[in-house]
Amino acid sequence: MSHIHAGSCLCNAVTFELEGEFTKFFLCHCSRCRKTSGTAHCANLFASGATLNWLSGEDKLSFYRLEDTNFARTFCSVCGSNMPTDAKARGLVVVPAGCLDTEVDITPQAHIFMDSKGNWDENLGDIPTYEGLPS
Ligand SMILES: [Zn+2]
Ligand SMILES: [Zn+2]
Repeated sequence: MSHIHAGSCLCNAVTFELEGEFTKFFLCHCSRCRKTSGTAHCANLFASGATLNWLSGEDKLSFYRLEDTNFARTFCSVCGSNMPTDAKARGLVVVPAGCLDTEVDITPQAHIFMDSKGNWDENLGDIPTYEGLPS
């Protein structure tokens, strides 16, 4: 049985549904993911054989592929949010976990490309945590 997962960008121009199952969930610390996310790592879900349906804003999507690589990003051209990339040639959809509005039913399986992580990306689980902004 496949599930329907739903997501949207920050400005809500782009909305989508994904029909299928998430089979892999990686936190990627490579330099490309650090550049495009602006942070320590991307949180990418992989759905093999899934069907991606854009419900709105398909005309607002921008697509970027790094020359001579498989590295690609789909994002909202209005607010810049990362959106799913339909890697049809590879038979999978790559979904940035943060754009989902429905529950994610698997947990991250691994940190990958740790050899290119940022020098500040060290023992982040050990620093203080707050429910909101620290006072
Ligand atoms: Zn947007
Ligand atoms: Zn990466």
